[in-house]
Amino acid sequence: MQLSNASPIHWQVGEATLTTLSDGYFEIPLEHLIVNAPMEKVLEVQHSALRLNPPRIDVNAYLVRIPGHGPVLIDTGGGSQLMPSMGKLPSALRAAGVSLESIQTVILTHLHGDHCGGLVDVEGHASFPNAEIVLHKAESAYWLESNLDEVPDRNTFGFIRQMLVPYANRTRLIEGGEVVPGILAVPLPGHTPGHTGYRLGSGPSSVLIWGDIVHVPAVQSTLPDAGTAMDVDPALAVKTRKDTFRQVAEAGSFVAGMHLEFPGLAQLTSQGDGYRILAGHWIAMQG
Ligand SMILES: [Zn+2]
Repeated sequence: MQLSNASPIHWQVGEATLTTLSDGYFEIPLEHLIVNAPMEKVLEVQHSALRLNPPRIDVNAYLVRIPGHGPVLIDTGGGSQLMPSMGKLPSALRAAGVSLESIQTVILTHLHGDHCGGLVDVEGHASFPNAEIVLHKAESAYWLESNLDEVPDRNTFGFIRQMLVPYANRTRLIEGGEVVPGILAVPLPGHTPGHTGYRLGSGPSSVLIWGDIVHVPAVQSTLPDAGTAMDVDPALAVKTRKDTFRQVAEAGSFVAGMHLEFPGLAQLTSQGDGYRILAGHWIAMQG
């Protein structure tokens, strides 16, 4: 059975309208993905949460509409060239009434393929012909400026560079602060050197779009030490995840995530040595 088109779901966050867009999903067996946690425990947690192994990992992107600025896209999904189970972002955008041409800014949480692979279409052209790209300076330094003879995985680095080529003269590097009016960069390093979250609004009704703080929500909220094989700095990724969990749970605010289960809005509450991710879309709608 094919999902024809998930209906767009919007939230009002202060002046901004936030819309979750699904690009699809990917699968990796937990045994290949999760590190730094006993596998027996990982499998038990996933099973108790009634989730499968291999998990179907959601790939979300977020559309932000703010008065006075053109549509902003946060991440682009992976595109169908990376995996046929992805690449649904263009049709999700159309369903939300937004054309690819109208996107003014594409903000990237980091440069892994499932976040930047949608930048270029199957013919090699820019998917967003009028958009400026925004990403963290450390992310650019690591993926785009390092010597290809010294990188751990030439293919991955090569793919990422290809995605950014059409945007070379319209890429803005940031280190923090407000990147477009109403969207604040929150550096969350570890998963990659320039991995960055973006905050909309303020106080308990604010939303932190936290990128890849989790890939397997049930497992990593219960076992915050559990990292992934893709973490560039595993120890820092764990520290950043724990700090972020604590801050968000204490504030009672919302999180959105590229690998949270669609529609990708949640709150966190502490539970035992870890946390529980509470699906937040109904809470937010009532608020
Ligand atoms: Zn990812």
